[in-house]
Amino acid sequence: MRTLDDLDVEGKRVLVRVDFNVPLDRDGHITDDARIRAALPTLTELRDKHARLLLAAHLGRPKDREPEFSLEPAAERLSELLGVEVQLAPDLDHVPDGDVVMLENVRYEPGETRNDPALAERYAALADVYVNDAFGAAHRAHASTEAVAHLLPSAAGRLLEREVSTLRGILQDPKRPLVAVVGGAKVTDKIGVLDTFLEKADHVLIGGAMCFPFFKAQGHEVGDSLCEAEGVEPAKRALDGGGDVLRLPYDLVAGREFSADTEVRPLSDVDVPDGWMGLDVGVRTAEAYATLIHNAGTVFWNGPMGAFELEPFEAGTRAVAEAIAATDATTVVGGGDSAAAIAQFGLADSIDHLSTGGGASLELVEGKALPGVEALS
Ligand code: ADP
Ligand code: MG
Repeated sequence: MRTLDDLDVEGKRVLVRVDFNVPLDRDGHITDDARIRAALPTLTELRDKHARLLLAAHLGRPKDREPEFSLEPAAERLSELLGVEVQLAPDLDHVPDGDVVMLENVRYEPGETRNDPALAERYAALADVYVNDAFGAAHRAHASTEAVAHLLPSAAGRLLEREVSTLRGILQDPKRPLVAVVGGAKVTDKIGVLDTFLEKADHVLIGGAMCFPFFKAQGHEVGDSLCEAEGVEPAKRALDGGGDVLRLPYDLVAGREFSADTEVRPLSDVDVPDGWMGLDVGVRTAEAYATLIHNAGTVFWNGPMGAFELEPFEAGTRAVAEAIAATDATTVVGGGDSAAAIAQFGLADSIDHLSTGGGASLELVEGKALPGVEALS
């Protein structure tokens, strides 16, 4: 993959695809600007090399030019962070000639998600070279992430470069033991990741609602727990093939319903009674997982251990997050909700690599080729 080291940007107009797909509240205020801050090393380096920036990004999934999907809040925030004016171009026909200009939401353009070559030509006509730093969008072949990369001299920005080398690195040459912690809501989302780590890791620790298809496959009662029917078959396969690498919870915390003020009941084993749902791993499980994380050489975490958004069910996720923050191992966290949990517990600074890509990080770990990365290779 070509990087900024391979690209002459001195004094040039650089089209930079960034991932500014930030969460906004109802009033259009950014609630977490981590993705904007993550692009700063690349933007600063380019400016130090006297490049003029033309930024391209998407926000949400607009169907039309709906104003609530405008990148104006992102442009304002970036302006504060860089300490320079960031001019927002309303559309591709009205692009001002400033030092730092941002295009409006690329998904306002009908051809963007179709990877339309004509649209890519229009992007390319606005710049001399192209830099892709949008790791979170690199698994999509869109006009601003894929087609345009073939039309200009192009390279990866520093964030994309670091994401790819870190995530590939933990699979190619991890410091051992390699411990993968896989949780979250759905097994079917994470089968590919699970398969990869069952092959490569020394321990795979399962948590979240992920565990219920496994328990069902083993003949346990799952009560009203979130348990994907289509997950049971893959779980069975993983159980048969996983040998002694795979670890499941020993105990759980159950609630009557998915709510913070529901009745709560610790379960000393993993059979969930009728009328209850398993919403967190139990204390013994959290301690065992924390010990394995403590003794690890490398830890990859994707997917919370329970419904951490609900105070009575956050303890398992908190224990795992604290263990990951405290271990001497190299630690890599992927996934939007996992990153949100880390932020909620105030531990973001103690993680070696907090991936900015949800889907992209999972696909990379699964060994899939990312179109946005391939186009720079
Ligand atoms: P990530 O975004 O990190 O990849 P996921 O999106 O796969 O993670 O899963 C996060 C969601 O899983 C959270 O909203 C959490 O509430 C939910 N979850 C975790 N454990 C359970 C459970 N036992 N029952 C229901 N939902 C759960
Ligand atoms: Mg998620």
